[in-house]
Amino acid sequence: METGKMLNTEQKKKIADVLEKRKHGLTCPMCQNKNFIMADGFFNNNMQTDFSSISIGGPSMPTIAIICDNCGFVSQHALGTLGLIPKG
Ligand SMILES: [Zn+2]
Repeated sequence: METGKMLNTEQKKKIADVLEKRKHGLTCPMCQNKNFIMADGFFNNNMQTDFSSISIGGPSMPTIAIICDNCGFVSQHALGTLGLIPKG
């Protein structure tokens, strides 16, 4: 994936289709709103077991986030579980 670019409409549609297949009728757990927007890029959550230092470039969990357009609740979904991580 190119860096410095945000997700385009086609990429977002593909992700939305995968999410929709697995979870019909999204409802916000905080405000019960049914409209979400998708973040413009992936999150790369660094994983570590040591709080004394921050390691960059170590193990991570890439996710996509959808955001409730009413209250801003952020729901993150692991790309690996969704089958959206390209095989290297
Ligand atoms: Zn909400």
